[in-house]
Amino acid sequence: MIIFGTKGYLYQLAVLTLVCGRCGNPAAHTLRKRVTKFTLFFVPLFPFSTKYTTQCTFCGAEQQTTAAQAEQLRQQAGGGQAAPGHAAGYGAGPATGPQYGQAHGQHNPYQN
Ligand SMILES: [Zn+2]
Repeated sequence: MIIFGTKGYLYQLAVLTLVCGRCGNPAAHTLRKRVTKFTLFFVPLFPFSTKYTTQCTFCGAEQQTTAAQAEQLRQQAGGGQAAPGHAAGYGAGPATGPQYGQAHGQHNPYQN
């Protein structure tokens, strides 16, 4: 007789502040990775399902994200935990950032 089944693992990857799609609050969200592994005789063998979710800590709404999105969020979250390229986007360089700040004349209120 072969006993097989599944076992779920939950990893918390990061906590980040997002505007919740349900309650609309800029609340802390936990980014989680949920791995389901195939088990044989209660021994986990290989993962057959990996899902990424974010959960709003304010209202508890859970949302699924793709792996790519999750990775992006994790890097945003502080660029720190286990990811080597840290502080890439956030306030690393003052005013020299390409996107923010100097929008060349597009919506510049000082030009009117
Ligand atoms: Zn919410």
